[in-house]
Amino acid sequence: MALRTIRTEGDPVLSKVCRPVREITPRIRTLVDDMLETMYDAGGVGLAAPQVGILKRVVVIDVGEGPIVLINPEILEADGEQTGDEGCLSVPGMAGKVTRPMHVKVKAQDLDMNEQILEGEELLARAFCHELDHLEGKLYTSLVEGELHEVNYDDEDGEEEE
Ligand code: ZN
Repeated sequence: MALRTIRTEGDPVLSKVCRPVREITPRIRTLVDDMLETMYDAGGVGLAAPQVGILKRVVVIDVGEGPIVLINPEILEADGEQTGDEGCLSVPGMAGKVTRPMHVKVKAQDLDMNEQILEGEELLARAFCHELDHLEGKLYTSLVEGELHEVNYDDEDGEEEE
């Protein structure tokens, strides 16, 4: 496993639409391992492949309940609403208020290309939406209500970054 460089806002790779994964090659497995390591190292709760410069539909998430790997994810259902601060490892040190669904159901393949259905509420629902947006070349900054603000990392109640 290896740490990969996290691309930051302004890098054109972050505004491109990602391609589906057709088969799980050793390269994809290495990408997933590296993405998990990079996400944990950066203290994030999610990371999408374009954030490490790879235009593939691959997402990793861990909201504190163990790693989730999503290959070719799609949102099946979304309902409810939550408004709260959101951050992104590609927009370091910043956060902003975003409204997301409270509950999201996602379909994706796993690393054996088996279909899995996952449901998330609150932070996990937010992470699903945030990371899937990355696969469409969309950053949360386009959804922020009001202004982006700086995050104080000394604050233990600080923002989660995705
Ligand atoms: Zn992000």
